[in-house]
Amino acid sequence: MKLVLNGRGGKVGRVLAPALEVAGHELVEADAADAMVDFTVPDAVETNVSAALELGLPCMIGTTGFDHARVDAAARERGVACFHAPNFALGAVLMMRFAKEAAAFMPRAEIIELHNEAKKDAPSGTAKATAELLGGEIPIHSVRLPGLVAHQEVLFGDEGQLLTIRHDTLSREAFVPGVLLALERLPGLPPGLTVGLETFL
Ligand code: NAP
Repeated sequence: MKLVLNGRGGKVGRVLAPALEVAGHELVEADAADAMVDFTVPDAVETNVSAALELGLPCMIGTTGFDHARVDAAARERGVACFHAPNFALGAVLMMRFAKEAAAFMPRAEIIELHNEAKKDAPSGTAKATAELLGGEIPIHSVRLPGLVAHQEVLFGDEGQLLTIRHDTLSREAFVPGVLLALERLPGLPPGLTVGLETFL
């Protein structure tokens, strides 16, 4: 696929660009692209998506903290598919799935999400998606410190016991297989914004 990659110089972009090329994709300018990939900052997403939609390009958005409803509306208006996963790491999707299973039996839960200090949005997209999946009012605690990549714990408390479900992203290579999978499936998605890697699992 010919891809325009926004955020190529960022922490994710620097890992993703060579991985996309190794997987057989070609990185090109927007006017020559088949699809747009965005790993930038929340404030840039709508502008980047609008520019891509104007060219009729489907969009794969990795950036978190943007307005889903507005991007969904813009994509529907253009009749083009957009996809966003708050977390492209397969282990993180499984962490959310197992947390949902645990919540059926241990409903008192809290989430701790820990990320690098450079992360702009808090709480993280993954923490918000996990809380939504569990239902109810789940408190989220955000930690931003140097040295961290992306980590989340879901704690379930009950009389005399604590269950912790934890996922650690140790390097940004963790996101590559999920991005490749989403790109493979992007052409088959309906117009509008589809959210979550679990769509394909
Ligand atoms: P980062 O290191 O800060 O990189 C952001 C990149 O975006 C930089 O190269 C920056 O360029 C570029 N940029 C800023 N504004 C732009 C614009 N208007 N148009 C095009 N490029 C622009 O951030 P990161 O760690 O790579 O993360 C990027 C985003 O992905 C964040 O929202 C993060 O939360 C998210 N993320 C998502 C996942 C997931 O699985 N969904 C995983 C990791 C990260 P300059 O440096 O030149 O400004």
